[in-house]
Amino acid sequence: MAVVGAGVVGLCCAWLLQRKGHRVLLIDPSLAAPGLTQKHALAGGSQRSGSGAALGVLMAQVFHRSRGRAWNLRQQSLALWHSWLQELAERGQPVSRRQGLLWLAAEPEEWQRQQALVAERQQLGLALELWDRERLSTLQPALPAGAIGALHSPLDGQIDPPAAMAALLADGRDSGLTTAGQRVGAIERDGPGRWRLLLEGGEVVAGLAHVVLTAGLASPALLQSLGSSLAMEPVLGQALALRRSAPGPWTWPGVAVWRGLNLVPRPDLGAEATFWLGATLEAGSRADPDQQARLRHWGDAGLDWLEQASVVEAWQGCRARPVGRPAPLHEQLQPGLWLVSGHYRNGVLLAPASAAWVLEQIEQTTPRP
Ligand SMILES: Cc1cc2nc3c(=O)[nH]c(=O)nc-3n(C[C@H](O)[C@H](O)[C@H](O)COP(=O)(O)OP(=O)(O)OC[C@H]3O[C@@H](n4cnc5c(N)ncnc54)[C@H](O)[C@@H]3O)c2cc1C
Repeated sequence: MAVVGAGVVGLCCAWLLQRKGHRVLLIDPSLAAPGLTQKHALAGGSQRSGSGAALGVLMAQVFHRSRGRAWNLRQQSLALWHSWLQELAERGQPVSRRQGLLWLAAEPEEWQRQQALVAERQQLGLALELWDRERLSTLQPALPAGAIGALHSPLDGQIDPPAAMAALLADGRDSGLTTAGQRVGAIERDGPGRWRLLLEGGEVVAGLAHVVLTAGLASPALLQSLGSSLAMEPVLGQALALRRSAPGPWTWPGVAVWRGLNLVPRPDLGAEATFWLGATLEAGSRADPDQQARLRHWGDAGLDWLEQASVVEAWQGCRARPVGRPAPLHEQLQPGLWLVSGHYRNGVLLAPASAAWVLEQIEQTTPRP
């Protein structure tokens, strides 16, 4: 079988299928990148694939609904990340992560929503709690003075997407995963019950019982010749890496969210004072400088240490939003042709649940030898 696209979703699918005993070929031009380490090849430059641009924030338990497909996928995925990261670490592929998320309330209505959510989640036995202004004021560096209170979610948090992707790839290869650093030009039928892929380099990969399409925004174009009218639109996100002018203690319980923007402390990046800010939400694929300016100041957080920090890197990428359908898209388009795409704002979080879905479907339709 083949997985087309090695973003975080394709890597999770390929890794899981290979680990469960299937023979998988993962195809993506980004896997070719000569002279680069795999980690850099997967992350890219300032204009990145969705996965290369992602901050890796995992917001499962703070989701606004407590049931339905989106809630279930989030809970399943969060649990899978916990066990997969442990498994990867045990096999020599540790991935840096931060546990915990602090969602700051900027308005009284937001604080009320948080109070209702905590009451509801506590009834489900989830360990969410409210932190008042006094408790927030003990944290360093200072949080926005305008924060009324916060919701603390100890099990949400953040993983490093390039590191997670590099670990999945390396561990997958150790388990026999094969890869091709090429672009797929077309997906075609190859006789009854089989598929073939035409690679842009001229090669043909034939006789595939299953093709899993995880090419993000490029997925619709690959399906056009098969009569699919799948539509997805780009939603651009900008992100920044900054460094504090003077390193100091960082006592926050993980990621902080203020006015919809995430601040991720990244002491693991080598410089103790480094942190990430992101991401903007911009319809289309052109970056708006005003949105970057708002991001730079963390939505007018009014913090001296933030204003004095210097920007060390800026990048952007596009999310794939399905048109007229809820994200993500999990679908068997034709027998043996699986679409796992359109993860929009939560592809890093949801990738393990997507991989689990495709594994289950393939195992249900394929008799084991
Ligand atoms: C700035 C930003 C911040 C984000 N932050 C978060 C976050 O904190 N948490 C979170 O959960 N999500 C976040 N997201 C969303 C997340 O990044 C995406 O949902 C996710 O990366 C989608 O992954 P994917 O594998 O489906 O697609 P992609 O990452 O776009 O990967 C698709 C892959 O397919 C390959 N490809 C394309 N065409 C072909 C072809 N013809 N043949 C072979 N390969 C092909 C591409 O090279 C690419 O590697 C963020 C997104 C952005 C832009």
